[in-house]
Parts: sequence; C-alpha cells; structure tokens
Amino acid sequence: MSVLPKPLERLIFAFERLPGIGPKTASRLAFFLLKSPAELSKDLSEALREIKSSITLCSVCFNITDAGREKCEICSSTERDEKLLCVVEEPLDVLALERTDGFMGRYHVLHGVLSPIEGIGPDDIRIRELVDRVKEGKIKEVIVATNPSMEGDATALYIRQQLEPYNIRMTRLARGLPVGGDLEYADQNTLLRALSGRQDL
Ligand SMILES: [Zn+2]
Repeated sequence: MSVLPKPLERLIFAFERLPGIGPKTASRLAFFLLKSPAELSKDLSEALREIKSSITLCSVCFNITDAGREKCEICSSTERDEKLLCVVEEPLDVLALERTDGFMGRYHVLHGVLSPIEGIGPDDIRIRELVDRVKEGKIKEVIVATNPSMEGDATALYIRQQLEPYNIRMTRLARGLPVGGDLEYADQNTLLRALSGRQDL
C-alpha cells in the first residue's frame, strides 16, 4: 500500500518518465508543486496541453512551428538564403545553430538518424523529403550537420549517396565538435567554428 495520495503518486510517476529524471527528482518536483501557489500548476498544465494541440511540423523543413501555419518562420522568410540548406537531426539543433547567428540559409530536420541497431532506416526519417527539395533545383549547397556520432556519420554518407546525382556542393560541419557529443550542447563559438570550417563531404 502506498503512503502517498493517489494524485501525488500519479504526478511522481509521470515525472519519472521524463528523460534525466529519477525517482528522487520526480518526488522533489511533485512536492514542490504541492507547496507552490496554484497558479504555477495551472500554468504548467496549460502549457503541457498546448504543446500537443498548438504545435505542428513545417511542411517544408519539418521544424516545429505553430499549429495552423503551413510554413515555419524561417521557410517563410525572404531574407534567408534558399541556396544553402543545413540538414540537422532534431528541432533542438536548429535552435542551437540559430543561436550562433552565423547561418543565414534554411534547414531540413530529419527527426532522427539511421540506426540499424534500433531498426531505423531511411524511410523512418525525412530523407526522401530532403531529396525532393534538392530535386527542385534551387539548393546549391547542403551542409550535413548531423551529430559527430557513428549514426550521424553513417547518415551523412547515406545522404551524400542520395544527393550525388544532383550536382550540388555537399559539406559536413568541421571536426572540433566533441565526438559523440550532441550539437545542441555545443557552445556557440564551437558551433560557429564548425560551421565556417565545414569540409566537403
Ligand atoms: Zn520550415
């Protein structure tokens, strides 16, 4: 029998399912909310409901955007260079690259990487959509900015093979990013350097 009231137990279990949160942190968060003004719980629950109902994927680059929009802000902007396309694994990587203020092209979000071990093949991520975009003929350079991991490298090579027929420049972010690290955790300077020192793929 649990010593905790059911709603509190439910909240603790829900927190525990989040990445990086163990049972102790989950309990601490739940008790914190219990003690806090009702306002905080209300804000939190509304925000949680909204991320599912009010966010959608851009139909062009597959980055996250407000529901009801067909294109995200970056794809709609006329100030972004449509000849330059940066391919990333996740929406968080777009955020990291945007923070550097050093990239004025557009993005393509794969939503994952190839991983035979986890059974993730080319059809499970947005590679076909990438090839379709390149086929349109406006893109002159594709920067593959997948993470410097085994899967990230394998995905970059696969993309190179798929885009080879289209006669565009293909580059990969320069080394200097921590191997095995995530783009989203790289500091702005490292990321800027990797971007400007990109090498042909
Ligand atoms: Zn977009």
